[in-house]
Amino acid sequence: MTGYPSLCMMIDGERVAAEARRTHQVVNPATEETLGELPLADAADLDRALDAARRGFRLWRDAPAQQRAAVLSGAASLLRQRADHLACAATLEEGKTLAEARMEVMMAAALFDFYAGEAHRIYGRTLVRPAGQRSTVTKEPVGPVAAFAPWNFPIGNPGRKLGAPIAAGCSVILKAAEEAPASALGVLQALYDAGLPKEVAQAVFGVPDEVSRHLLGSPVIRKLSFTGSTAVGKHLVRLASEDMKRTTMELGGHGPVLVFKDTDVEAVLDTMVPHKFRNAGQVCVASTRFLVEEEIYERFVDGFAARARTLRVANGLLPEAQMGPMANARRPAAMEKLIGDAARRGAQIRAGGTPMGNQGFFFAPTVLSNVPTDADVMNEEPFGPVALCRPFRNEEEAIAEANRLPYGLAAYAWTADAKRQRRLGREIEAGMIGINSVAIGGADAPFGGVKWSGHGHEDGPEGVEACLVTKALHEGAVP
Ligand code: NAD
Repeated sequence: MTGYPSLCMMIDGERVAAEARRTHQVVNPATEETLGELPLADAADLDRALDAARRGFRLWRDAPAQQRAAVLSGAASLLRQRADHLACAATLEEGKTLAEARMEVMMAAALFDFYAGEAHRIYGRTLVRPAGQRSTVTKEPVGPVAAFAPWNFPIGNPGRKLGAPIAAGCSVILKAAEEAPASALGVLQALYDAGLPKEVAQAVFGVPDEVSRHLLGSPVIRKLSFTGSTAVGKHLVRLASEDMKRTTMELGGHGPVLVFKDTDVEAVLDTMVPHKFRNAGQVCVASTRFLVEEEIYERFVDGFAARARTLRVANGLLPEAQMGPMANARRPAAMEKLIGDAARRGAQIRAGGTPMGNQGFFFAPTVLSNVPTDADVMNEEPFGPVALCRPFRNEEEAIAEANRLPYGLAAYAWTADAKRQRRLGREIEAGMIGINSVAIGGADAPFGGVKWSGHGHEDGPEGVEACLVTKALHEGAVP
């Protein structure tokens, strides 16, 4: 495939090729063609990475803030310069449209710029003590980080996993998704080219369970950072707890969207339909359960279905594509199962509902109405292009449904009533809430969930704070 790089791991400054190692075939989800063969780490590779991460930490924790900042802002500039090339790799590997992939590069660059600033703002404090005594509170980097990034944001997720530890003075071993390695390697290369010492950040790939057990079983690693499903997250937290490692867990969501009758239905649809189908719905903060006040419910569902039917679904490289394929063969299979279950339980399929074409992992933008709350799709994260609609009678009922699930990542609400806006902001159990807006992110904004959606944050000052430990030093008078 032209333009797709040869794949490797980056361990202790060396490009590690397949040689006799096991490999993983990276597949273009739009065409099912093989893009490349990715080497998978064996135990010796992981031990080498751990040894380098130990050395990298000693080096980087002592690096001045200016140096850390220069690396991050230099990498941000390089990402912008290389945006077209990186976006193309992301689309080839993951399927999203080029426009979305390009936006992702820009977001990663903005995050690196923000973290470059944060590297200068790691402050401590001095306590008030009698003369001759001195007590200081300092923030220190937590140590080498094992970071696991999923495939749905192949540039943005590695950017988050690398940026915060580097700003804080940690070293990091990144295991990005085996499905989308070239994008992650492109982000890492920008950091190297901006001057990052190669022991400070490394990239390994492998059999996920083998890699996570090996890295989390090592005392070298002091922090786990994971983005992915709640089921895998719980398993990794258990492994990390054996050695009391710090954890930042960005897990699943099941985003409720509360739509009240005092809003402009057409304007809400114009925002929410593209939001729903962004990245074919494979977004942890996706809008999923559309809870609509009964007076406007039918109009809302009709409008949603009509818009879904006109979306142009195509290979993300094509300029006309508004939605690409799903990222891998597991996703359309999961969609069919969830939609079949919902239909059997009485949900109506108002648009889509089936795979598309005979090549690639395409799935039609789908709208289901009157989905019963005991349908699997109303309880498991669907992670796909399906909107689930249900009517509600009043605010209490809508809030109760929003909070019914153990997930609490993102939630959205549309209402013109200022008092209600405040009530919803207080009552909805979610880490991020958008009221009359879907713009819930930004380099300066903490990104993270509550309940089964995880704990800790990425982005914002909180992202760097999560890579720091606090030390209190109390010094008496010299005897
Ligand atoms: P999955 O749950 O097996 O994998 C999710 C991610 O976790 C992948 O990147 C995978 O490589 C990684 N992973 C899996 N087992 C691991 C282990 N033992 N150690 C370390 N990493 C491990 O399944 P999947 O089919 O890739 O995705 C399915 C579900 O995962 C989706 O339905 C969605 O709920 C969730 N997911 C969430 C996000 C997110 O942004 N929160 C991203 C991707 C997938």
